[in-house]
Amino acid sequence: PEPLLSIEDLRVSFAIRSGFLRRTKAEVRGVDGVSFSVMQGKTLGIVGESGCGKSTTARAIIGLETPNSGAISFAGERIELATPKRRRQLARHIQMIYQDPFASLNPRKTVEQIIGEGWLVHPDLVPESERKAETALLMRRVGLDPALSNRFPHQFSGGQRQRIGIARALALRPRLLVCDEPVSALDVSVQAQTLNLLAELQHELGLTYVFIAHDLSVVRHVSDTIAVMYLGRIVETGPIGPIYARPAHPYTLALMSAAPVSRPWAVSRPSRIVLKGELPSPLAPPPGCRFHTRCWMARARCRIEEPKLREVAGRKTACHFAEEVVAEAAPIGTP
Ligand code: SF4
Ligand code: MG
Repeated sequence: PEPLLSIEDLRVSFAIRSGFLRRTKAEVRGVDGVSFSVMQGKTLGIVGESGCGKSTTARAIIGLETPNSGAISFAGERIELATPKRRRQLARHIQMIYQDPFASLNPRKTVEQIIGEGWLVHPDLVPESERKAETALLMRRVGLDPALSNRFPHQFSGGQRQRIGIARALALRPRLLVCDEPVSALDVSVQAQTLNLLAELQHELGLTYVFIAHDLSVVRHVSDTIAVMYLGRIVETGPIGPIYARPAHPYTLALMSAAPVSRPWAVSRPSRIVLKGELPSPLAPPPGCRFHTRCWMARARCRIEEPKLREVAGRKTACHFAEEVVAEAAPIGTP
């Protein structure tokens, strides 16, 4: 089987002004050479702190950012090489679920109008005479009462608003959903319900997800594969199983130790790894390994030589000492 979405060596940079009178012009590389693919019907979780480039990657996939270079292929077709008309057609298949369901819903529109927004751009998809029925169907599918279709977003709870956002995305019958922190603005009690809904929809409709989060415990339950990002690069990527069993990158280990989940691996270090220092500015990423300014394992080599992604214990990791990390992260009970 072919991947539905495939990204190759994606680079996205922004020009920003800073310094005295904002006279200094600089280029920030938000995403600096990222590659991954997602198979049809599967979920890739992208994890990292804010500023790591995960949202920029998401925005590039849905066409809100123009990459400087790299390839974005959907079902084998290069999106960025397509004609504007073809691009619009392809764009329908890739919909976004936003972090803040309130900010992303127009407060002056009714639920019915919000769900039907995309049909104004793609009028042939659902004939006008069928839109009312289709809206009701979509509302039921995401667990909302169709009788409420004339209400406004503020009349709904956060979780319900996120369901409206999901219905709006589904209205275009997409094949891929890019979910940018879809539950991080929701109450913990509502998060699981929303994740369950997304899982059900994936199963029913054969959807493919790119699921972005800052929390490893959130993506664990929804993802088949994950990519951990740091300062515009992927530092560890592969199937969920081996990565959660034994991380092979110190940054993944630190993210896991911060997650409020039980840790199955032995702790020969403080059980909660607190990363020293701030996330460095993407304006001037550290030389060598970008993580070396915050890594408790950093050695001389790390400051000079940049580690490349390489195969280690069933996943790919960009750390010179990944074998040591894997060995240290051994589950309790193994010698
Ligand atoms: Fe830490 Fe060095 Fe590995 Fe980078 S290469 S993560 S600094 S040990
Ligand atoms: Mg973000």
